Amino acid sequence: MPLIVQKYGGTSVGTPDRIRLVAQRLLETQREGCRVVGVMSAMAGITDDLLKLARDVAAQPSSRELDLLLATGEQASSALVAMAIGDLGGRAISLSGAAAGILTDRAHTRAKIANISPRRIQNLLGDDYIVVVAGFQGQNADGEITTLGRGGSDLSAIALAGALNADACQIFTDVDGVFTCDPRLIRDARKIDEISYDELLEMAGGGAKVMQSRAVEFAKKFSVPFEVRSSFSGASGTVAREETPHMEEVVVRGVSVDRKQAKVTICGVPDKAGIAGQIFGPIAAANLIVDMIVQNVSSGDTTDVSFTIHENDIEHARHILESIRREIGASHINARNQVAKLSVVGIGMRSHAGVAARFFECLGHGGINIELISTSEIKIAVVVAEEDIDEAARLTHESFNLSRLAPQAAVI
Ligand code: ADP
Ligand code: ASP
Ligand code: MG
Repeated sequence: MPLIVQKYGGTSVGTPDRIRLVAQRLLETQREGCRVVGVMSAMAGITDDLLKLARDVAAQPSSRELDLLLATGEQASSALVAMAIGDLGGRAISLSGAAAGILTDRAHTRAKIANISPRRIQNLLGDDYIVVVAGFQGQNADGEITTLGRGGSDLSAIALAGALNADACQIFTDVDGVFTCDPRLIRDARKIDEISYDELLEMAGGGAKVMQSRAVEFAKKFSVPFEVRSSFSGASGTVAREETPHMEEVVVRGVSVDRKQAKVTICGVPDKAGIAGQIFGPIAAANLIVDMIVQNVSSGDTTDVSFTIHENDIEHARHILESIRREIGASHINARNQVAKLSVVGIGMRSHAGVAARFFECLGHGGINIELISTSEIKIAVVVAEEDIDEAARLTHESFNLSRLAPQAAVI
């Protein structure tokens, strides 16, 4: 009997009616002849509400306590779904991440899955249960509850599908699949039928929150294909899998926007060997993730070094850099978070020249100033002022003919 893992996001379990719809779909899938594992997110808004509660009672809540608190959101929704299945005449049981055998490292609030012991789930499936697992959580070797980072129920589902050797993994969400750009930003964005892990990884890393990046990384590493689709319709969605040669025919698969960026510039840095290490060593030691780095051509004996980080890290970075600035004799630091990143992604870029030129020309014609540029083999990303990002995304999406109304995909 085929085994299927179905993950439902926050909006999909956001109200009692929607929970009953999810219960119905899980039950129908079982009645079609499948063994079924459901993975639930917390009801929409609950994780944010719990985070706010924590910050209302403590300026810097402990990450261990945060995990205990946040994990309750997913435990509530999975118990509710199991109850609703029971009410519809089905046989279901809910399990916390720990009870489902999900073992993680000790990094509270951003734990990595170390191992999954699927025995209990397999036994329950053998007894004809629909097994409903609380997403986003596991336990560490000390038996402490951990969570897997925002959007982490995607990771729970992919990892369970891998560990159970599932025949299919479906990620049900509130849009019809992965689009050429966030459909809430670009109304005529097109649904993508098929996307490679690498492309989705770059899109997610570029800010497309439709899938958690770490979940896509896991899917790639362990070859777990999955489908992103709507929980509100029966339409087929987007299949993410290993790339195939014909995928390269499309030059640009999609465009991503990330508004949560900040740009830091250290001005008047002495232009000599070893300085970059002195700047970025302490930043790395503080676990701050740096995205783009640009060093200007030096004028005289000094240069400017700019980089981007997550906007939440701006004060931490400023604090660290202030003492480095004095040590190395730089003149001053500029840090601001009114910037955003725009990325164009596609594995076809490997074999087609001209993507960067078209991208930059299109922004230039729109009068949009590019502050930083970075590239990978299948991505070109720029940082622009936050006030320009919507227009920049619209122009870029149009320029590469990504709209569902456009006659064909981009021809360079
Ligand atoms: P869930 O709660 O189901 O996990 P999320 O809110 O995490 O859902 O992700 C779905 C949202 O991702 C969509 O509502 C959409 O606004 C956003 N999104 C951003 N970029 C894209 C994209 N390229 N394709 C589809 N959705 C996207
Ligand atoms: N509830 C968690 C979050 O909002 C995890 C998830 O929904 O995947 O980030
Ligand atoms: Mg999500």
